[in-house]
Amino acid sequence: MLIRNFIFWLSTKRRVTNSIARRGMKYGFARRFVAGETLEEAITASQELCAQGRRVSLNHLGENVSTETAAREVCGGYIRMLEEMHAKNLKGNISIKLTQLGLDISKDFCRSLAREIAARASALGLTIEMDMEGSAYTDATLDIYESVQRECGNAGLAIQAYLYRSEKDILRLAPLKPKIRLVKGAYREPKNIAVQSKKDVDAAYKRLTTLLLEGAAQGAYFPAIASHDPFMVGHAQAEAARLKLPPDRYEFQMIYGIRRDLQNEVFAAGNGLQVYVPFGTDWCPYFMRRLSERPANCWFVLRSLIAESGAAPKHATNQPAA
Ligand SMILES: Cc1cc2nc3c(=O)[nH]c(=O)nc-3n(C[C@H](O)[C@H](O)[C@H](O)COP(=O)(O)OP(=O)(O)OC[C@H]3O[C@@H](n4cnc5c(N)ncnc54)[C@H](O)[C@@H]3O)c2cc1C
Repeated sequence: MLIRNFIFWLSTKRRVTNSIARRGMKYGFARRFVAGETLEEAITASQELCAQGRRVSLNHLGENVSTETAAREVCGGYIRMLEEMHAKNLKGNISIKLTQLGLDISKDFCRSLAREIAARASALGLTIEMDMEGSAYTDATLDIYESVQRECGNAGLAIQAYLYRSEKDILRLAPLKPKIRLVKGAYREPKNIAVQSKKDVDAAYKRLTTLLLEGAAQGAYFPAIASHDPFMVGHAQAEAARLKLPPDRYEFQMIYGIRRDLQNEVFAAGNGLQVYVPFGTDWCPYFMRRLSERPANCWFVLRSLIAESGAAPKHATNQPAA
């Protein structure tokens, strides 16, 4: 836990992340979790995944922006991503973060950009998903999600199992027949609003998985089980079997480069699998969060640096993490 917190803390220090960023792409270790710095690289990675039958969700890395100009630029970037996906006939969607679209500046401004993206996606026959960020943004994200989904009907939303409020939020969204991406939750949240221990997070995740799959059996949701935890995946598979839910009524989601063994297993069992494909120049804080989730990943970084100096096999960075 100490190591996790230390790496997580480092991920918030710009001097540290800049220094890692200078080396990460050069030495290749960042490529394990980040598809590249440009849209072209992300498209190439996505084409490979789609050729294997996966769907993809492209995510342009970066978080809070502080000016309307920057938010508009991000919005234009998301639209280019959609157009490129459409041109290349890639199966999947894009994932957007509302703080990249000016949520800190104004909710209405952010809503208008999110709507613009969803409308363009809809015109191209595509969908979008919204990431869920820290709890300071939960209310605003739900509010914007509801209006965009009501208007365009092609948006999905991430819901965090560790928040006490999530069951109510899921029930509140049911009339919109949403795609819900169920995640455990990636932020540090206080104990009055989120469960803290792995045991309690896992219990909440399983309970909400059942709620979503039962809802899917009645046509209320399209659940996306977004976890690399084999127990969560196993629970979802068992519940889908109990409910006799066909595989086209729900899907699994995992992140690029993480538990590729489990990704193969889930896909080989006949399930739909969507891979979250992050890219962009601002990849370092994201990369550090992946390290903090599993400090064993640091070994990976070290091995690739050693390999570069000629002391270890050249392809050390391609080994599975788990
Ligand atoms: C597609 C997708 C989208 C997401 N979107 C959001 C979002 O919008 N908002 C949000 O708060 N969170 C999001 N998350 C992150 C999520 O909340 C968790 O922090 C993250 O998925 C780790 O939880 P887990 O369910 O994989 O289980 P854990 O209990 O954390 O891990 C289970 C097992 O998975 C493997 N594993 C997990 N992480 C790693 C890693 N970094 N490297 C190697 N192995 C690993 C390990 O084998 C571990 O034992 C998303 C996750 C996914 C898969």
